[in-house]
Amino acid sequence: MARYTGPVCRLCRREKVKLFLKGAKCESTACPVERRPYPPGEHGRDRARQGSEYLAQLREKQKARRIYGVLEQQFRNLYDEASRQSGITGENLLRMLELRLDNITFRAKWGVSRNQARQLVSHGHVQVNGKRVTIPSYRVRVGDVVALDPGARDQITIRQNLDTIDRPLPGWLEAEENGNQVRVRIAPVREQIDTPVREQLIVELYSK
Ligand code: SF4
Repeated sequence: MARYTGPVCRLCRREKVKLFLKGAKCESTACPVERRPYPPGEHGRDRARQGSEYLAQLREKQKARRIYGVLEQQFRNLYDEASRQSGITGENLLRMLELRLDNITFRAKWGVSRNQARQLVSHGHVQVNGKRVTIPSYRVRVGDVVALDPGARDQITIRQNLDTIDRPLPGWLEAEENGNQVRVRIAPVREQIDTPVREQLIVELYSK
């Protein structure tokens, strides 16, 4: 199960925007994007980037990939699947990303970041319809019930996350069992997805 294991703050600095990959640090003044709002590297500050259309499309795709923690080939496969579905391709793509099990674990406030949520899934702390699922990219379907494994419900980190994270639960999810369980009410629509990505640019990039 491949994933990016380098320094995540560099990814935000590369995109020159907060991608919220680290939890509490992202909200604090220690966030490197606030202290050094220019790309990383020796010449990051001097790098004069041409504002080409292609570059804007590329950066938007990279941003989406990095927010959801998806590698290039996996992202491309998702795009291909999204383009075969009926409806708006960009919206289909975002919907599939939102329905990943690690993202739902993050949205349910069990993980402070998607990285932490991914770890909770791969360590076997999350169940789908009563069965343990350890694949972060597992796609959850409408009507599915995603729950914390009974053995994980008292974990200090998870309890603390549930008590302190004040992200609102998106309307397409419904909390049950004191937040230890969420039900996928409906497939998310664009208005319910707060990811700061212009998905149309990604579609334009891949349609070339
Ligand atoms: Fe990105 Fe969070 Fe690191 Fe800031 S602290 S650069 S938002 S991961």
